[in-house]
Parts: sequence; C-alpha cells; structure tokens
Amino acid sequence: MAKNKRGKSLWHLPSRSRGTCPVCGSTRIKLLYVKNTSAGQQLKVCKKCSNASQVRIDAAGQQVG
Ligand SMILES: [Zn+2]
Repeated sequence: MAKNKRGKSLWHLPSRSRGTCPVCGSTRIKLLYVKNTSAGQQLKVCKKCSNASQVRIDAAGQQVG
C-alpha cells in the first residue's frame, strides 16, 4: 500500500490535511487520523493523538459540539 499519510498525496485533501487538532489544540498540524467518540462523532486528530485515550477523544468531541 502507498504511504497515504506522507508527501504529495496530502495536497489533494481539503486544506492540505492541515488544521487544528481538537484533542491537543496544535494548530496547522496534519490531521490524518480519524477517531470515533463514544457519541458516534468522527474527529480528525493529529499523529500524537492517534493513540490518545478514549477519554480525551470524547472530551474533544464535546467541545467541538
Ligand atoms: Zn493532537
């Protein structure tokens, strides 16, 4: 499989896959990992938060609304 999280392929994505991570609040970071909250919400998080605990994902989901 190709490296989907690196290089030019990211530039096709909206805002080139960059944004603010809802979990850690880092700005202009690459949001490449989709996490599901226990409320059924889908959050895009950064690499650091790809293995954050479910508690932190849920808390971020409630802030986003
Ligand atoms: Zn993060």
